[in-house]
Amino acid sequence: MAKVPPFHSSNPSDPDVYHDRDECSRGKLIPPHNRVSGTGGYPRCKVCGYLG
Ligand SMILES: [Zn+2]
Repeated sequence: MAKVPPFHSSNPSDPDVYHDRDECSRGKLIPPHNRVSGTGGYPRCKVCGYLG
């Protein structure tokens, strides 16, 4: 389990949150071509919050 630099999805239909845990189940759903570095100004993903 590791913390990673913040990333979010460029897909408008995805939740407006950012992820920073590599094992996040929701973050893993974001395909590489939709993955954007940074928080996007969004709040942190709740799943990432549970993970630490
Ligand atoms: Zn997450």
